[in-house]
Amino acid sequence: MKKTTNKPTFFSKMYCSFFGHDYQVSKKVTRHVKEYKCCHCKKELTTNSNGKLTELTSTFKEINAVLELMYSRKLSKIRQKTYNTSAA
Ligand SMILES: [Zn+2]
Repeated sequence: MKKTTNKPTFFSKMYCSFFGHDYQVSKKVTRHVKEYKCCHCKKELTTNSNGKLTELTSTFKEINAVLELMYSRKLSKIRQKTYNTSAA
């Protein structure tokens, strides 16, 4: 189901074609991978495996979800390790 709200208006598309997109970080996936969204036309980008920006397709959304999960697990492991070391 696609949301019909937040639909880019004709004006916001015009704005982007004249002035360029105004991307803001919408989500931090890992330390190096982030998702960006244009605040005018709602176009989304993400960092790919080469560290370059690319369009955020549904495939990249899935990849990022996995990356995020792996990253948060890794972080919690590091935190536990640090805690145990400092406690000992
Ligand atoms: Zn835009």
